[in-house]
Amino acid sequence: MATVRFSGVNKAYGTTSVVSDLDLELPDGSFTVLVGPSGCGKSTSLRMLAGLETVTSGTITIGDRDVTHLQPRDRDIAMVFQNYALYPHLTVAENIAFPLRATKTPRREALARAATIAESLGLAKLLARKPKDLSGGQQQRVAIGRAIIREPSVFLFDEPLSNLDAKLRVETRTELLQIQRRLGITSVYVTHDQEEAMTLSDRMIVMRDGRIAQQGTPQEVYSRPADTFVATFVGSPKMNLLEGVLSAGNFTLSNGFALPVDADGAQGPVTLGVRPDDLLPTAAAADSAARVALIEHLGPRAIVTLDVGGTELTSVVETARLTGITEGTAVDLAVRAGACHLFDTVTGRRVAG
Ligand code: ADP
Repeated sequence: MATVRFSGVNKAYGTTSVVSDLDLELPDGSFTVLVGPSGCGKSTSLRMLAGLETVTSGTITIGDRDVTHLQPRDRDIAMVFQNYALYPHLTVAENIAFPLRATKTPRREALARAATIAESLGLAKLLARKPKDLSGGQQQRVAIGRAIIREPSVFLFDEPLSNLDAKLRVETRTELLQIQRRLGITSVYVTHDQEEAMTLSDRMIVMRDGRIAQQGTPQEVYSRPADTFVATFVGSPKMNLLEGVLSAGNFTLSNGFALPVDADGAQGPVTLGVRPDDLLPTAAAADSAARVALIEHLGPRAIVTLDVGGTELTSVVETARLTGITEGTAVDLAVRAGACHLFDTVTGRRVAG
């Protein structure tokens, strides 16, 4: 068990900086997800922690050990990759036991430990199978078992579920979370998928261009995004962002459309953020400038695309509240009370709300 710390960590390839001034503290036993668009430096950060990539400057500690310049094998970590590369000629039991065999643990003892771990991963009946006779999800669990068996102090995951189909990804994600909770091993997980980050993490670190854009619990990041980048990266469908002017309880777009909002008395030019769940259309007189462009039914809810004088907005509406709302109809729009996000139009930083 161990706390992981990055202090002023930088990584550059030649003159190109890919990770800048990374300061992080990941508490013992926590599950941290590094998330961000492709190329933002997530994998490089994880690989520096693993020792697979050198650090240009700064330090990384695990527990009270400075591991910055240690070899990967001396860091007491285990890593699960997207390509889990099981040994095809070995059985499930032998694959899981492999790291122990490599440290000369007697075969019988290694296989017994492997069987216990396989049991906890729901693989007990598959011990004698070869990888080619397993589903993708089962193979990934074997890879996790192989990583767990050494009882590392830190567990690293680099997009481990991205080769699985959607259903299996959700199932395996749940299993992974249960395993992590049970073992209490400090875990760091990299993904570009914000939904995966939201569901898995105790602590979510959103990265952009090699820097931390925001860190906090998924709920903090979702409910108070620090800037327009985080606001639109986290949440699906993504947050509506509108440039306009606030005055006297109305937000007026450049095309003249006025949206009534409760923005705590804020005034002046601002970028207004409204999550689709917080934008509430209701059937209106035909002269309203807001129209329903498209409705996509998702069962209990529908995604409603609105055209407001040439500006497109997205609303998510409970099916029961779609009365009178059909494609082509005019609507009035309201924003749920307390649900406005206000950002500086120039810097994109959150100003209030
Ligand atoms: P992510 O995991 O967020 O997709 P990476 O950490 O893999 O991003 O990469 C961050 C940036 O570093 C990218 O712009 C990538 O092109 C660059 N990069 C990665 N490896 C090298 C390398 N060996 N040489 C030069 N640039 C690299």
